[in-house]
Amino acid sequence: MPSPLAHSSLLLAVAPPLRARLRALTRGRRWLFQAAVVFALLAPDLDIALGLVLGAGPFKLHGGPTHSLLLAGLFGVVWAVLVRGLVFPPRSNPPGDHLGDAALPWGWLWVIGTGAYASHVLMDWLTPGRGVGLWWPINADRVGSPIYLFVGVEHSNWKDVGHHALTLVTELGFAALMAALGWALARCVRPSDTAGPVRSGVTT
Ligand SMILES: [Zn+2]
Repeated sequence: MPSPLAHSSLLLAVAPPLRARLRALTRGRRWLFQAAVVFALLAPDLDIALGLVLGAGPFKLHGGPTHSLLLAGLFGVVWAVLVRGLVFPPRSNPPGDHLGDAALPWGWLWVIGTGAYASHVLMDWLTPGRGVGLWWPINADRVGSPIYLFVGVEHSNWKDVGHHALTLVTELGFAALMAALGWALARCVRPSDTAGPVRSGVTT
């Protein structure tokens, strides 16, 4: 599996094109939104904590049912509800109006939450290892990709400094690629795409 560095670096591709849409939020809420995206990018690995809680060990369950593409869509629904409630405040004028409706509607929140979770699953699938539970619960078998794009972390061989160095260098390169993608996407956002959240009465 790639390290959290590679997974969380996808924020560098997502944040710049969304910056204009989120500018109506306070700085604290913008940080909260980015923290929520990073959580979604890392969420499948909560199976490590689950393994510890259940007494099975940290890596017994790792890469199993939580690494399912089918679970990603369900996760996206829960993530969208929580982010809308915690990050986007309701506006008092006009009554019933909601900042999230202008900045990021429900559909976009679901796409971001689902996409972030699914990206983690696919990145693990593209890494040497035991494979992932890609199609759980329809098929509980672990599935591995025929090609690999990541070196991955060697939990069972922590003394292999050369492998860790290779992982670090390749994942820093991947992060740089994500930053370049974010830069390019931000320049593709049309002015009309960002006009929604900038309206009178919005907290800045
Ligand atoms: Zn994982």
